[in-house]
Amino acid sequence: MAVSVTWDLSDLYAGVDDPKLTADLEALEERARRFAESYRGRIASLAPAEFAAALSEYELLGRDQQFPGAYAQLLFCADSLNPRHGALLQQVQEHEVAIGRNLLFFTLESVAIPDDRFAELLEHPSVANYRHYLEHIRSERPHRLTEPEERILMEKSLTGRAAFQRLFDETLSAATFRLTVDGQTTELTLSELLSKLYEPERSVREAAAASLTEGLRERARLFTYIANTLAHDKAVDDRLTHYDHAEAARHLSDEVETATVHTMLDACVAHFDTVARYYRLKREILGLDTLYHYDRYAPMLPEEGTLPWEEACTLVVDSYARFTPRLGEMAQRFFTERWVDAEVRPGKRGGAFCMGIAPGQHPYVLMNYLGRKRDVLTLAHELGHGIHDLLASEQPFLEYHPSLAAAETASVFGEMLTFDALLRQEMPSRERLSLLCNQLEDIFATVFRQTAMYRFEQRLHAARREKGELVAEQIGALWQEAMQAMFGDSVVMGEGHRDWWMYIPHFIHTPFYVYAYAFGQLLVIALYARYQQEGDAFVPRYLEILSAGGSRRPADLMALAGIDISRRQFWEDGLQVVDGLVTRAEEVWREVQATP
Ligand SMILES: [Zn+2]
Repeated sequence: MAVSVTWDLSDLYAGVDDPKLTADLEALEERARRFAESYRGRIASLAPAEFAAALSEYELLGRDQQFPGAYAQLLFCADSLNPRHGALLQQVQEHEVAIGRNLLFFTLESVAIPDDRFAELLEHPSVANYRHYLEHIRSERPHRLTEPEERILMEKSLTGRAAFQRLFDETLSAATFRLTVDGQTTELTLSELLSKLYEPERSVREAAAASLTEGLRERARLFTYIANTLAHDKAVDDRLTHYDHAEAARHLSDEVETATVHTMLDACVAHFDTVARYYRLKREILGLDTLYHYDRYAPMLPEEGTLPWEEACTLVVDSYARFTPRLGEMAQRFFTERWVDAEVRPGKRGGAFCMGIAPGQHPYVLMNYLGRKRDVLTLAHELGHGIHDLLASEQPFLEYHPSLAAAETASVFGEMLTFDALLRQEMPSRERLSLLCNQLEDIFATVFRQTAMYRFEQRLHAARREKGELVAEQIGALWQEAMQAMFGDSVVMGEGHRDWWMYIPHFIHTPFYVYAYAFGQLLVIALYARYQQEGDAFVPRYLEILSAGGSRRPADLMALAGIDISRRQFWEDGLQVVDGLVTRAEEVWREVQATP
């Protein structure tokens, strides 16, 4: 299904060789240089009014820098085959590095301001407006070392942690896996191999799984050594910087309480039977006696019918408008003012994203529309991000972008509004079942799988700290146990699955990050449950959350809607929605069976 919907970037710059672009970059570099000249080394001794002026100039520099950066990114994503787009992106990035070098001191020195001095600065009204931002960057203060110590850690990390991370990446991207199907052997990259787990033919999936296991086992010694080294490196870092448990640094930087994260995870674990129920249903739909780990992604039903672009737009806009007309109007602007690029063409980036640039400047959405139902949901998702950005426009630039845990608040919510609208449409039962199953598998991948992976990481780090270096079998046993707990008896995690922890990059690059996927998604499902309970009364409170942008911690944001995310019941309500979807899928499956 071809759509010729492209965006109009002319309100940023006139074109790739608009002279204003280079002029803007040079002016920014000059301003950053003067900023450093005026303030470097003096932040802690500035009078409140001077600090307010410095902060405001720092913010403006950050904001103005977004425009050339965004323009170059958007051009490149829209058409990377044009060599001038790559050259522009490179040029802009080099300027950004030069600007950044002159701005870095501001954050470092602001973090180092003694507490009593900082309290005085906050008495100035225009500094007080940035209280959340400043407190956030200063929250790591108790974990900061002296400057020379920090410098040594940073310099040595290139040959320490970063070197092992790179070794992992390079090993995995260079790895090929031998797949033998019907006597034919081919060499595949990891992502090519993983895509074979989605094949309808069971023997192909089984062979792909065996090939993955074999390829990982060949490199098991290396991957195990990297995992051990990084776990130990983290333990050393945590000890030196006074973090009392392995997850603490991650939660602090994400502005969430560890206790709240654990409440969310515990609630998910208590609902693992939802996952098991679904996979028992899937086994039945597939007509299999036993569901093995390589059957998890098996496609169940033929691809549903497609939806023309105009119908998709109307459906999404109407879904937002049914929630409240204001959001419908905002969604409509993306189409009438050409903020969306939906055409599929060579050289364009795959997937989808929404780029929010700065308050006062509208966002842009890129996607590749093929007319499938999941494309309609992607459109709803990205427009949700866009609406979030538009509403947050009343915030200053430094408080504009929502924090990680709240970043999906509007996108997933909009997706759910649209999903409900899709479900209400007339369609054959098989299509409805397919829609429900796709949605459920997406939710499971984000909520439950990430929960299980987080529990694996907790155990891995604890075991490394207690027992010293671990062998591959020990790590594999922790992995197998964490994953099996999620599936219960619905899926048999074969022996081969034991080594599949080895290729997950999050464990290597951003320890304990995976919770954020589960947290963000379940938070929104729970908000959606609240909306279903409260109806229209919920609307203004929800809009207040979105309008706050990144100006509050996630817990304080949700408190705006009277929600306490530290309470188990809040998360339970979200999990009930997921459970209800499984029940619905079971009902529709009975309808399908009853249809001749
Ligand atoms: Zn998103």
